[in-house]
Amino acid sequence: AYVICEPCVDVMDTACVDVCPVDCIHTSEGEKQLYIDPDVCIDCAACEPVCPVDAIAMQSDVSSEWESYIEINSKFFETF
Ligand code: SF4
Repeated sequence: AYVICEPCVDVMDTACVDVCPVDCIHTSEGEKQLYIDPDVCIDCAACEPVCPVDAIAMQSDVSSEWESYIEINSKFFETF
């Protein structure tokens, strides 16, 4: 799955939401970033180039400083 990392915080551009073919990028009231549902993401990569702040990466390509965001993304969907 793809993961949204720290650069999204307080930006939340939503260009990724518009291009995602399976509608798996979400956020909610009070959240500071967008999240990708790892169980729904089909790894199409459409979202990665449209992010203006380069916040999106394939899980396996997430840099070590942002590794915690893999769990941060999946945790968001545990509440649904
Ligand atoms: Fe959606 Fe494709 Fe990005 Fe996954 S990789 S979040 S399916 S646009």
